[in-house]
Amino acid sequence: MGEVMVEVRGVHKSFGPLEVLRGVDLRVRAGEVTVILGPSGSGKSTLLRTINHLEKVDRGWISIDGELIGYRRSGNRLHELREREVLRQRTHIGFVFQDFNLFPHLTVEENLLEAPVSALRRPRKEAVASAARLLERVGLADKAGAYPRQLSGGQQQRVAIARALALEPKVLLFDEPTSALDPELVGEVLDVIKDLARTGTTMIIVTHEIGFAREVADTVVFMDGGVVVEQGPPAAVLDAPRHERTRAFLSKVL
Ligand code: ADP
Ligand code: MG
Repeated sequence: MGEVMVEVRGVHKSFGPLEVLRGVDLRVRAGEVTVILGPSGSGKSTLLRTINHLEKVDRGWISIDGELIGYRRSGNRLHELREREVLRQRTHIGFVFQDFNLFPHLTVEENLLEAPVSALRRPRKEAVASAARLLERVGLADKAGAYPRQLSGGQQQRVAIARALALEPKVLLFDEPTSALDPELVGEVLDVIKDLARTGTTMIIVTHEIGFAREVADTVVFMDGGVVVEQGPPAAVLDAPRHERTRAFLSKVL
C-alpha cells in the first residue's frame, strides 16, 4: 500500500440553491486506481473539478501528496492561495476530459510541449524527447506532426492522455474519457489507461465502463445525490453491493 496521495474530506459544494456535493470523503493511495460510478447529476464531474480547484469547495478540504489544494493553513484558518500558486498546484494534477480539449491549432507534438515549454519554461530539447516517449507509449509515435482534426476520436484522446502525462503528475483525473467516442474506438483508449494502471499511475476515473472498472480498479466508488453511497474493491461493490441505490444503478448499466 502506498502513502495517501489524494485526500478529500467533508467536501461540500453548492451552485446557488443546488447542493451538488454534500459531504464527500475519499482517499486514494499512491499507485492506486479509483473508479467513480454514479448516475448523471450525482456530482462526479464537480468532485473531479474541486480536486483540481477548478471549483472552490464551500466546506471541507482536499490535499494531494499532503499539500492542501487551493488553500494555505495558518493556525486553524484557511487562506485562499493566489492564482499563481493554484496554477503551480495544478501542474501536479493531470486532467483528461470527455471531449479531449486538445489545442486545435497546434500539432500533436506542440500540444504536448505547451505546458512544459510554453507555460513552465522547461528546456525544449528535454520536453521534445519526453513528448516522443509519451507518444510512443500511447501508440502514436507517427502522429507528432498531425493536427487534432486529422486524428480519430480515439487517437485524439490518446494524445490528451499523453499531454496530461507530460508534467509527470502525481495523480491523473479522467472525466468519462470514452463517452464521446464511437464504440469501436473505446478499447484503444481503455488499453492505454490499463497500461498506466499496470505501471502504478495514481488515477481517479469517472466512467460508465463497468467491465473496465472491474479489471483495473483497486477501489470502486458509487456516488449518488452528492455523497459516496458505498466504496470498496470491485468484487464487493459490483458483485455484492450493500445499498439499494447501488443495486438499482448497476441493474441499469450492466
Ligand atoms: P455528474 O458529473 O455526476 O453528471 P455534475 O457534477 O456534472 O454531475 O453535476 C451535478 C449537478 O450540478 C447537476 O445538477 C448539474 O446541473 C449541476 N452543476 C454542475 N456544474 C454547475 C455549475 N457550474 N453551475 C450550476 N450548476 C451546476
Ligand atoms: Mg459528469
